[in-house]
Amino acid sequence: MSSSSIGPVAVFGGTFDPVHNAHLAIAARALAALGARRVLWLPTGAPGYRRPPLASAEHRLAMLRLAVADEARYGIDPRELAPGHSGYSYDTLAALRAELGPGVPLVMLVGGDQYARLAGWHRWKELFGLARLAVFARPGEGAGPQEVPEGGVIHLALDPMPVSASSIRARIARGESLAGMVPAPVLEYIQRHRLYY
Ligand code: ATP
Repeated sequence: MSSSSIGPVAVFGGTFDPVHNAHLAIAARALAALGARRVLWLPTGAPGYRRPPLASAEHRLAMLRLAVADEARYGIDPRELAPGHSGYSYDTLAALRAELGPGVPLVMLVGGDQYARLAGWHRWKELFGLARLAVFARPGEGAGPQEVPEGGVIHLALDPMPVSASSIRARIARGESLAGMVPAPVLEYIQRHRLYY
């Protein structure tokens, strides 16, 4: 069997408002360190309990398409953008588990800041019945919950990248350079559509 059919499917949810180089570093690490056969990028919708993204779903999707175009193992799954989707990772993972069957390992990729808030997530303990979590340290984050099942969490090192979508939006608003923060086609898209100005 080829390695492309035995690694886990990595699931990477985010607002991607906009997608940036730390996101790409996380996905690349999932391929290299976890041997993921695929990374599914899942842009979040705008459920009422979250602050809505600034850019529209169409713009965020278009930027994601540009960012993932060069890696055949990356795919975009837009299901959370559908009207009426709960926005809960539990629901998304349960649907993926049902579609992929019980034999495909699933790993959910999260930054350390998200992991620190895990205990507030809908049905968070049940997530571990569906997937393992790969946690990427992030500057300034807190610790995750104590009661995670043995083997449920993989901590992966990432060269600390002090880049965030919010700092990118703030830099654009101040007219500062985004050099090294977003892929060139994403930067060009942001400028062409005057996003975040
Ligand atoms: P914002 O600044 O608007 O909160 P963000 O940069 O965190 O956005 P998201 O799309 O919300 O971007 O992030 C998707 C995932 O990527 C989250 O799990 C987040 O923790 C993780 N992530 C984003 N940037 C980094 C980073 N620099 N280091 C580690 N993880 C990161």
